[in-house]
Amino acid sequence: MALGLGLSVLFAGRPITAANGVSDFNPLALPQAGDHALNILSPTMLELTLVNTKPPDPARVPSWDFVETTGEFHLPAAAEFEVAVGGQTIPVQAVGFKRRVLYAPLKERDLRIGNYLYLQLAAPVPADQTVEVKNPSGQLWPANRQFIGTASPLRLGRAIHVNQVGYLPAFPKKAMVGFYLGSLGELMLAGSPNFKLVEATSGKEIFHGRLAPRLDRGFPFPCYQHVYEADFSEVKTPGEYRLVVPGSGASFAFRIDDGVAMCFARTYALGLYHQRCGTANELPFTRFIHDPCHLAPAEVPTLQFTQTQRFLAESSADYRNNLRHTAPQLKNTASSLYPFVNQGKVDVSGGHHEAGDYSKYTLNSAAFIHFLVFAADVFPGVGDLDNLGLPESDDGKSDLLQEAKREADFLAKIQDADGGFYFLVYPRNRRYENNVLPEHGDPQIVWPKNTAATAASVAALAQCASSPLFKKQFPEAAANYLAKARLGWTFLTNAIARHGKDGAYQKLTHYGNDFMHDDELAWAACEMFLATGDTTYHQRLLQWLKPADGNARKWGWWGLYEGYGCAIRSYAFAEKTGRLKRDQLHPILLIECEKEIIKGAEDDFRRAQDSAYGTSFPEETKRVRSAGWYFSMDRAFDLAAACQLNQPVYNDPRRIFFEAILSNLNYEGGCNPVNVCYLTGLGWQRQREIVHQYAQNDRRVLPPSGLMLGNLQGGFAWLDHYGNELGALTFPSDGAQDVPYPIYDRWSDSFNVTTEFVIVNPARSLVTIALLAAQTPLKNQRWRSAPAQIEVQPTESNAGAPTYLARLRAPGLDLAQAQIVWEARDQEPAFGGTFVFTPAGSGPQWVEAEALWPDGRRVFAATEFTPAASQTSVQRRSGLTK
Ligand SMILES: [Zn+2]
Repeated sequence: MALGLGLSVLFAGRPITAANGVSDFNPLALPQAGDHALNILSPTMLELTLVNTKPPDPARVPSWDFVETTGEFHLPAAAEFEVAVGGQTIPVQAVGFKRRVLYAPLKERDLRIGNYLYLQLAAPVPADQTVEVKNPSGQLWPANRQFIGTASPLRLGRAIHVNQVGYLPAFPKKAMVGFYLGSLGELMLAGSPNFKLVEATSGKEIFHGRLAPRLDRGFPFPCYQHVYEADFSEVKTPGEYRLVVPGSGASFAFRIDDGVAMCFARTYALGLYHQRCGTANELPFTRFIHDPCHLAPAEVPTLQFTQTQRFLAESSADYRNNLRHTAPQLKNTASSLYPFVNQGKVDVSGGHHEAGDYSKYTLNSAAFIHFLVFAADVFPGVGDLDNLGLPESDDGKSDLLQEAKREADFLAKIQDADGGFYFLVYPRNRRYENNVLPEHGDPQIVWPKNTAATAASVAALAQCASSPLFKKQFPEAAANYLAKARLGWTFLTNAIARHGKDGAYQKLTHYGNDFMHDDELAWAACEMFLATGDTTYHQRLLQWLKPADGNARKWGWWGLYEGYGCAIRSYAFAEKTGRLKRDQLHPILLIECEKEIIKGAEDDFRRAQDSAYGTSFPEETKRVRSAGWYFSMDRAFDLAAACQLNQPVYNDPRRIFFEAILSNLNYEGGCNPVNVCYLTGLGWQRQREIVHQYAQNDRRVLPPSGLMLGNLQGGFAWLDHYGNELGALTFPSDGAQDVPYPIYDRWSDSFNVTTEFVIVNPARSLVTIALLAAQTPLKNQRWRSAPAQIEVQPTESNAGAPTYLARLRAPGLDLAQAQIVWEARDQEPAFGGTFVFTPAGSGPQWVEAEALWPDGRRVFAATEFTPAASQTSVQRRSGLTK
């Protein structure tokens, strides 16, 4: 198999030795029960990995069953292990263990459990020596199962964590070293450890340095106190490298390249393309295709729509939790303060699917627009990007504004005749279209209007309408949006005049329910003022927005939250974006907004510093031992925004803010304890099971590229096929009081709604990395996805079964520089310049390829063919299809 990006150097360090004789290292392949490996984490720390599975409870695990349901554990004695190195035996001083489910998909039970034994040795394993661990009693594994590893300096070192995409030459470059050993705590490195940077292909040393301790702060239990940071910022020469820690092996290969920022930017942009609604996803822009979806008009529900009425009653049932909610419960469409004016059908096509589901939530649509337009107006060079690989790229207009316009055009359609905006677009008869591709989506309905959804829509449309670049590129749309925003504002003032400010609000779901509608109203007043200069709006804003009083922060500490954040940002940058002159602004409010933006960035900077792995995870969340809906690059947005304020000459914070943006980027790109890239379609180790209806229902193993995965999770979800088993198998337990499984390590390739994004998260992430991409030479590189083809030829047969070789052709592009992912029917996905496969079933076969260049350009191809009937093997490997 030909290999791209120097992957061949990793052969010596295969993290999992497949027991079934598969000899190629393929980090995209799913580990099988029975897979086992010996990893030399350091000269004195060995890791024995065993993958197993089990039938449903009450069945116990069939091997390495050391843990009782009470949490008590009985690890094997040190004498159970015989560690042989070059004819000598090294005594084992201590034994540790951890266990976590590796893989547990939603749709069918297919449980794969990772078991890890740790052996602390009394003497170090010398470099290049081969180690074998035996279990003389045969109690832990049969004699024919071998745990053998070689301490070669360039073996894959699982304790070494890098941004697997890479680093920008002109910016700081940091990697982390650390490892969680379960009941043995953390990996300690002896003495004052060093690191080296080597060329990926030659292994030649380019740079060396000292590892610096990097301690985590804020968790209420011991963790991440033995993590180290490798700073190789001095290396600026583009190339492909690996980070080596003597005694612990080498990292995955990564690049130092100006294309790294554009690679992330294009990948996030591709993710937005995959979320588009009311249109097709198609070649050459993606291989994750579907026909146009949700084109049928939605219905305005009547009382006969019983499911809708039930969902409304359920969603609003807790309205009394808010003492200020004096309006009647919105328990059905008849109890809305704002009855539907237009009846029958309404065109709701367009926009983007809001999350893993295909619905469209007005509040998220509005926020999505805010972040894209704000960045296009404020972040230098970002509005000019026209090369993100989208269908609209290379047309002379801003890619980000076109993405925003797609959403704003949708928003403009969901306004009722009285000016109010529908709360969401939803399936008519159920909550989720979880068993269909989008083109087979359900009939849809709209939910009633409320003041929060209307205010957010007013704000977002006014913000678009007043953007100088948007007005220049889309003058007609801008004028239309402003008229819609004015009508929406009239709805709001009528509502408040009639019901009072508090009495005008009716809760539907938790969306927009933080601070009731106060934050959305403030944002609407702000954008209407900025769009018109009319001081009537300004007076409202001065009443409604008081950043200094602390009430604008969620839970008292989360600043720049939802509508308040949008209002504060837009006001602070009103002059810079050319909307108003400084003397039209209220000087005190302006200062308060600027202070709040700086405070938000300082918070996220401090959080990044307090994380051993550089992610801006708040100490307030650490303290309560939970995690969810957390995305490092989303958090980095507030840092990027603060960098655009005028800075003091002394103590300019931009350098440290940029460092924190990059440490968050690195975390997302694989520089985390589990070496997983949390943006699909990038990195060496990729998640396949995600909370996404398209990904759950298409034919491929891998999810669409460019989708964000939550970087942190508190624990496993309860799933139909597993019940509580996934969490119960975890050792040490996530819920343990004294020393729980530490949070950055709580990853699994499983379905977990706490890792699901909403469309706002990739928007914030995309514009943050676009700020960096716009500072590289790539900002002017022309690019719009190009066509490619797959050729399939019969090749040498594999033990009598017909075998095929697939090759990608992309005229005018140098595929030798690309990383290519292959997928085919019934096959495991794989990296490679070509793809050799034996069809596992009869009938039509499909093959797809996705090539990625270091600057994020991608080409996609798909083909189908039917082997002659006599040429198909009857064997079919299990567990490979979804
Ligand atoms: Zn759709």
